[in-house]
Amino acid sequence: MLLPSFTYHRPGGLAEALAMLDGFGGQAKLLAGGTDLLVNMKHGKQAPAQLIDLDGLAELKASGSRGDALELGAGLKAAAIAGGLGGAAPQALAQGAGALGSPQVRNRASLGGNLVTARPAADMCVPLLALGARVALVSPAGERQVDLPEFFLGPGLTALHPSEVLTRVLLAKPRPGEGSGYGKLGLRKALEIPLVNVAAWLALEADGKTIKEARVALGAAAPTPMLSPGAAKALAGATAGDDAFAAAAFAAAADARPIDDHRGSAEYRRDMVAALTKRCLGQALAQARGN
Ligand SMILES: Cc1cc2nc3c(=O)[nH]c(=O)nc-3n(C[C@H](O)[C@H](O)[C@H](O)COP(=O)(O)OP(=O)(O)OC[C@H]3O[C@@H](n4cnc5c(N)ncnc54)[C@H](O)[C@@H]3O)c2cc1C
Repeated sequence: MLLPSFTYHRPGGLAEALAMLDGFGGQAKLLAGGTDLLVNMKHGKQAPAQLIDLDGLAELKASGSRGDALELGAGLKAAAIAGGLGGAAPQALAQGAGALGSPQVRNRASLGGNLVTARPAADMCVPLLALGARVALVSPAGERQVDLPEFFLGPGLTALHPSEVLTRVLLAKPRPGEGSGYGKLGLRKALEIPLVNVAAWLALEADGKTIKEARVALGAAAPTPMLSPGAAKALAGATAGDDAFAAAAFAAAADARPIDDHRGSAEYRRDMVAALTKRCLGQALAQARGN
C-alpha cells in the first residue's frame, strides 16, 4: 500500500508550525511519530494535502518541573517515558509507555500523538487520567489548558481545535506518600491496543495507612478513557489494603460501560476491570509506602 501524495513541511520552530497550520486552513495535518497518521493514510482513511512535521521541534521535547508541576513535552517518545525520564516520570505513566506497541513503535510514538489519537484504551492516556493530568494547547491566539476528562470527547475525538498544537502535559510532581500503578490486558502477546487497561493513583495520610485521595482510570470501558467515580469514593478515607481495594474494584466494574465485540464480552471486560483495579492499587500502595 502506497501513501497518497502530500507536501511535506519541516518548520524550524513552534511559531512557524502554528503559522503553517493556520495558513493551510484545514488542509494540513500535524505529523509526530507517524505511527497512527501514516498508517491511516496508507489505509486510505486520511489524505491530508500538507503534512507539518513536529518531530524536530525542541520546544516539544523538553521535560522538567516548574514549582509543584511536572511538565512533559508532547514530542517525548514513548521509549524515553518508559525509561523513566531520569526518575521524573510517574510510575503508572512509565509502565503505560513501556506497554505501548513494540520497541520500534515506542521509538517513534509520541506522547502528544497518543493523546490526540484518543483511543479509549491508549496506553499513555489511561495513566495520565489517573494522575490528574491536563494538556496545554497552543494556537496563534495563545495557550489554554484543558483537564483530560474534558479533553477526551469520543474515540479519536478531542477538544483540540484545528489551529492548535498540543505542546505539553502538566501533572502534579509525585510527592512522598503517593504512588501509582498500571495494568493492561491484551488477548495475546501481540501488538495491539489493550482489551482492558486500568491505572490507579493514591495519596496516603501522614499515618501511612489512611487513603487521603485516589483516582482509578479505566480504558476500553467507555468511548473515552474514563475515571471511576465509585472507586474514588470507596477509597477516600478508607484504610489502604485488601478490603478497600476489593470495594474499589467492585465499584470500578460497576462504573465501566464496556461493549461486547469480537475480542471479548462486556461481562469478561468488567471482570478484568475489577482484577486490574486491585492489582494497580496494590502497586500504587507499594510505591506510596516506598517499597
Ligand atoms: C504496530 C502498532 C502498534 C501499536 N500499539 C499501540 C499500543 O499498544 N498502545 C497504544 O496506545 N497505541 C498503540 N499504537 C498507536 C500509536 O503508536 C500511538 O497512538 C502513538 O502514541 C501515536 O503517536 P505518534 O507520535 O506516532 O502520532 P502521529 O501518528 O504522528 O499522530 C497521530 C495524530 O495526532 C496528531 N498529533 C500528533 N502530535 C500532535 C501534537 N503535538 N499536537 C496536536 N496534534 C498532534 C496528528 O496530527 C495525528 O492526527 C500502535 C501503533 C502501531 C502502528
